[in-house]
Amino acid sequence: VKILAIESSCDETAAAVVVNGREALSNVISSQIDLHTLYGGVVPEIASRKHIENINYVIEKALSDANCTLDDIDAIGVTYGPGLVGALLVGVAEAKAICFAKDIPLIGVHHIEGHICANYVENKELEPPFVCLVVSGGHTHLVVVEDYGKYKILGKTRDDAAGEAFDKVARAIGLGYPGGPKIDKISKEGNPHAYEFPRTKITNSIYDFSFSGLKSAVLNQLNLSKMKGEEINPADVAASFQKSVVDTLVSRAMIALEETGMKKFAIAGGVASNTAIRAAFKEECEKRGVEFYHPSPILCTDNAVMIGSAAYYEYKNGITHSWDLNAIPNLKLGERYE
Ligand code: ATP
Ligand code: MG
Ligand code: FE
Repeated sequence: VKILAIESSCDETAAAVVVNGREALSNVISSQIDLHTLYGGVVPEIASRKHIENINYVIEKALSDANCTLDDIDAIGVTYGPGLVGALLVGVAEAKAICFAKDIPLIGVHHIEGHICANYVENKELEPPFVCLVVSGGHTHLVVVEDYGKYKILGKTRDDAAGEAFDKVARAIGLGYPGGPKIDKISKEGNPHAYEFPRTKITNSIYDFSFSGLKSAVLNQLNLSKMKGEEINPADVAASFQKSVVDTLVSRAMIALEETGMKKFAIAGGVASNTAIRAAFKEECEKRGVEFYHPSPILCTDNAVMIGSAAYYEYKNGITHSWDLNAIPNLKLGERYE
């Protein structure tokens, strides 16, 4: 089964051709980052307009890179939520138009399900059930992937997402947008024990996260140093912040592995490309005899390959959508629009 996948939930216009959910024949990503950097974050209206300008070109490139035409495509998978409504609508409308013209099935995909499925593309032997930690710009979810398309949420963030915390701290220490990769890089030159930032635990909930307190602690430290006239070393702040995030993520995930008894663990989402997070999970999983899976960095951040993989398993489960498929900006994981 050859699926053409489309992703336009935020600031990447992406298309890909994916075979049987596991093999990417093409992976085209047109990023708008340069444009949004001017404003220090994604401007929804600009994102929608850029998607409209880019989408046809991106799809044509995905088809030609895969050496095929629309006649070779069996179905279209498209992200319909969560994300920016105007941005999502561009992909959804495009997918509907092509499906209608070519008389092929339309499959709406949950963006976070896509992030999780990125693991199937690069780890051909990975099959559910497994525990997955999704850490992205807008989500921090600890889930049990019980089967293809079947998720049980163990815990999630009560406030900021992990990626959001990275981006906000980066901005505060003057690294600019998007901050995650910059904190990752500069942290390598910093001392992770220079500052003792909190590892927040939620009372009565072993699996939930909270990162806004950590973010505030970093901002308070910056203000305090400024008031005292102390020089701060951005690399030390970044490394100490990052260490706190790593410790928190690892501790929650390890409890989940112990409690479920599962021996397979995967990470997903943009923050999963963080080198310190990958190293820490690799070590902790090895210690426990747990198999550790992660996508390569290009499949961690937004792309359409992951959407093509998720769409394939929906298709196999008999899930397709009708022409009234709509963009759902706050679509919950595990929720389906029938
Ligand atoms: P969501 O998937 O929750 O809707 P999104 O699509 O905007 O949000 P992703 O594309 O999955 O998020 O990931 C982007 C996030 O990943 C940003 O917050 C970015 O700072 C972060 N990120 C990317 N690379 C790294 C890295 N090396 N270290 C830490 N964070 C990173
Ligand atoms: Mg993005
Ligand atoms: Fe994403």
